Amino acid sequence: MSFSSDIKEELCELQPASACCKKAEALGMLIFGRAFSLSEMTFMTELNCVAMHYCNLIYELTGVTPVISYSKAGNHKVRIDTREDRKKILEFFGYTGKEISLSINFANFENTEESCCFSAFLRGAFLVCGSITNPEKEYHLEFSISRIKLASEFTSVLNEIELNMKSLTRNNAKIIYCKEADTIEDCLGRIGATKSFFFMMETRAMKQVKNKINRRTNFEAANLSRTIEAGIAQIELIEHILSKIKLTDMTEDLAELCTLRLENPEASIDELGKMMSPPLSRSAVSRRLKKLKDIKEEIDNR
Ligand SMILES: [Zn+2]
Repeated sequence: MSFSSDIKEELCELQPASACCKKAEALGMLIFGRAFSLSEMTFMTELNCVAMHYCNLIYELTGVTPVISYSKAGNHKVRIDTREDRKKILEFFGYTGKEISLSINFANFENTEESCCFSAFLRGAFLVCGSITNPEKEYHLEFSISRIKLASEFTSVLNEIELNMKSLTRNNAKIIYCKEADTIEDCLGRIGATKSFFFMMETRAMKQVKNKINRRTNFEAANLSRTIEAGIAQIELIEHILSKIKLTDMTEDLAELCTLRLENPEASIDELGKMMSPPLSRSAVSRRLKKLKDIKEEIDNR
C-alpha cells in the first residue's frame, strides 16, 4: 500500500464534521473526476473505499445510485448511467451541464466563515486527483487536474486556506504541487488525515535524528583516518631512523615510544601515551615524536 492509499483509506472512514461539508466534499470528487457533464459523469479510482465513499455521498445528497464497474487492471470506474440522473446531480450542485468550461461553483460552500467547506472540498479533490509520496522517500504532494480553468480556481481555493503551492504542466494536465514538508503537513491536517499527519511528523523527526547520526559518523570516520595517516607517517619516520641507528642506541624513553608505535600502528597519540610506563600525556608523547623528527634530520644531514 502506498502512503497515498493509506491517507485515502483514512479519509474515507471520516464523517464530515458538519452537514454543510458533505456537499463541498462531493463537489470536490465530482468536478475533479474524469467527466462531469450531461453526457458523461465518470470517475476512476484504484481504491474500493474511494469508489464506495463517492457512491455513498452522491446517494445521500441526491438520491442517485452510481454504478461501479471494474477494469482488467483492477481500477474502479464509477459512473452515473442515465441522463436524467446526471441532470439531477448537476442541478443539485448548481450546474446545467452545458457549461463551456467547468468552474467551481462557490455557492456550494455553505459555511465560508469557518472555511470548513473549503477543507472538505480539498478532501474530495485529494481523493480523486491527489497524491502524497511517502515522507520516508521525499516530501511531495500533488494534484493532477486536466482542466486549466479548474486548476487555477483550485489554486485560489488553496491560497484561501493558506496552502501555497506551485504548478507545472505535464501530459496536458496541470500539476499543482508542493515539496515543503510544513505545507504538506498542513494539508494533511486540513483534510482531516490525522493519523497520516502524525506519521509524517514522526518520519521527519526520525530523519533529522538519522542525519545527525550520519554527520557524527562521518566526523568520527574523518578523525579515524587522520589518526591512521599520522600513525603511518610516524612508522615511516621510525623505520627510516632504525635503518641508520639501532634501537638500543636510543634513549630508553624514545626506544619505548618507537616500539609501541611499531606494534600499534592504528593507535592515537592519546592511546600510545596510556601504553607507556609510566603513562604519558598527549603533549609529552608529541614532544618525544618531535625529538624523533630531530634525530631523522640529524641523520639526513650527516
Ligand atoms: Zn462546512
